[in-house]
Amino acid sequence: MTEIKPIEPGSTTPLNGTPPSAPAGMTQAAMVKKAAPKTAYKPADVSPQRRVQRSYTVRLWAIRHSRLLEWFYARFADVFLMLHPLWNGIGYARVEAPVKFVEKRVKGIMFDCRMCGQCILSSTGMSCPMNCPKQLRNGPCGGVRANGNCEVEPDMPCVWVKAWEGSRNMVKGDAILNVQKPVDQSLRETSAWLRVTAQAAAARKTPSDGASA
Ligand code: SF4
Repeated sequence: MTEIKPIEPGSTTPLNGTPPSAPAGMTQAAMVKKAAPKTAYKPADVSPQRRVQRSYTVRLWAIRHSRLLEWFYARFADVFLMLHPLWNGIGYARVEAPVKFVEKRVKGIMFDCRMCGQCILSSTGMSCPMNCPKQLRNGPCGGVRANGNCEVEPDMPCVWVKAWEGSRNMVKGDAILNVQKPVDQSLRETSAWLRVTAQAAAARKTPSDGASA
């Protein structure tokens, strides 16, 4: 049996290096914290749990404000469509790189966009379905945890649980009920903004087709 030597004054570690057992009502972690030298330096909160939560902060903000973003995106799409003659004049292929550069960064920050090139955010409550580890585009799998988190990434809220919540705030939120086509992998890393604009411009040209993006 190891002999526990007395603790030196001002120290929590006995002379033989064995940490003392915590007194009743005090955890070992609390003892270590209490014994730590007091300085003005306060480290930033970098616990793994906080880091994980922080990594979803903007994504969750976007879902909570899905109605505002729906309104904003409709205006933004109109402006992009107004600029169709400009895109056409320069050439859609030529503007692809700079537009994609901006789109990737903006949507990356806002939605953790994976640049699938076939954006369906307006049908998924502003929750990007490509963040689902299984990349499901038509609702959640059967493995959603009781707390609403993903079965593959337990710290991440299920993107489809969040999609449903976001869709309930939106004017056209029932679009979440539409069946989505499988992902066309050949469109990866292309600009969804330009694709939607070109499609809307083409539809506008056809008098019989009044569809818009
Ligand atoms: S659906 Fe596709 S384009 Fe839209 S945010 Fe997600 S990865 Fe990006």
